[in-house]
Amino acid sequence: MFHSDARFKTVIEPFRLKMVEPIHFTSRDQRVAALEAANYNLFGIRSEDVLVDLLTDSGTGAMSMDQWAALLRGDESYAGSTSFRFFERVVQELTGFAFVLPTHQGRAAERLLFTVFGGPGKIIPNNSHFDTTRAHVELTGAVAQDLPSPLAADTQIEAAFKGDMDLVALEALLSRDHDRVPLVCVTITNNAAGGQPVSMANLRAVRALCDQYGKPMFLDAARFAENAWFVKEREPGFAAQEVRAIAEEAFRIADGTWVSAKKDGLVNIGGFLAFKDEKLLYPLRNLLILNEGFPTYGGLAGRDLEAMAVGLQEVTDEDYLRYRARSVAWLGKGLEAGGIPVLRPFGGHAVYLDAKRLLPDWAPDDLPAQALACALYVEGGVRGVEIGTLMFGRTDPATGRQIAAPRELVRLALPRRVYTQAHVDYVIEVGRWVAEHPETLRKLRVGWEGPALRHFTARLLLHSGE
Ligand SMILES: *Cc1c(COP(=O)(O)O)cnc(C)c1O
Repeated sequence: MFHSDARFKTVIEPFRLKMVEPIHFTSRDQRVAALEAANYNLFGIRSEDVLVDLLTDSGTGAMSMDQWAALLRGDESYAGSTSFRFFERVVQELTGFAFVLPTHQGRAAERLLFTVFGGPGKIIPNNSHFDTTRAHVELTGAVAQDLPSPLAADTQIEAAFKGDMDLVALEALLSRDHDRVPLVCVTITNNAAGGQPVSMANLRAVRALCDQYGKPMFLDAARFAENAWFVKEREPGFAAQEVRAIAEEAFRIADGTWVSAKKDGLVNIGGFLAFKDEKLLYPLRNLLILNEGFPTYGGLAGRDLEAMAVGLQEVTDEDYLRYRARSVAWLGKGLEAGGIPVLRPFGGHAVYLDAKRLLPDWAPDDLPAQALACALYVEGGVRGVEIGTLMFGRTDPATGRQIAAPRELVRLALPRRVYTQAHVDYVIEVGRWVAEHPETLRKLRVGWEGPALRHFTARLLLHSGE
């Protein structure tokens, strides 16, 4: 967030506002009532009852004036749209891949790709599968194998590239089971590991193993620009390179990519699949036509393709990326100074609060991370998301107790170009208030849960001891 001129330390946003969206203030009593009505599940809160919404950075960003202007250029022709050709050229230049298929969002691209590559008996390695990626891999009967760097498990170690793939584990998998592995995937940045970046050295080493075993390599590149920014900042030899060139180079290490454009595409909806092998075009394009639409719009309107193309060009702007990374770090440092333990180092899109270290005596049954998320909402109207036992644990049918997730985190994700430093400072103040008033943290219990992805719909209760 620091301006490029090193003499001045004031944090400024690299844009000025042209249109404003009011946010709604509520009283603490109103939020207590809203949370109770939502059964202590923040997914059940109406957005107008949220003051600062940090639930996700996906599809929640603000478009630029050039993107809004591009919407009007949208060519809505069913076939042969000029908007598609513009979008295709932008993706080809960015990625170097000849074949470009637009999809309505990232998971639609995953569905196409894993329908072709997945299947029973297959193993798909990834540094860490994102949840929709894992779901689509498993839907085909294949195994989604996470191979994160061993450093990723430690929330405190200050390593530059905790998003890397574990090369030793990948080599072991390929030498043992190479006939079961149809492709190797790498997610940049590594969302499941806290938005941590992957180094170019790691991407090249994965490439070398893929070459050795004759496997294609695909990038799940939702946050390719944030990853390239961290490479420039942290990896020896890249400081003098432009972020755009680093991003282009990363794609050229791989054979293909899929992108949820709701993140670094700077749009509210969109995604794509791009690759170099013409043999893949025929099955993937068939599936695209069946599931999404004709190949020159793929489940989107022509105007969406225009906005996405402009977003993909804008996102590698270095003043923007510097501001983005510094905003996340500013939020993380502020909360840490206010007494809330956080995951280190700060990633590209979110700060992760460590509820296990804040509340070391709480049992997983008390849902400590959900309690922290609820307290931030009740005290300050700030909405984050629990990434802990509610999301990744489950109820043991024998005992009725919670089988704990390995971590109890609350993710505060920053939408792109939406909130100002004053909003971030406010969130820090709310976090500090909660840390200083432990009585605001109230133990919960799971009351009712659905059979899958329970965190979206679960009904929770205050623990009766409360
Ligand atoms: C968001 C995301 C996806 C899925 O994309 P959607 O647009 O939400 O369908 C896949 N992989 C990663 C790494 C993501 O962040």
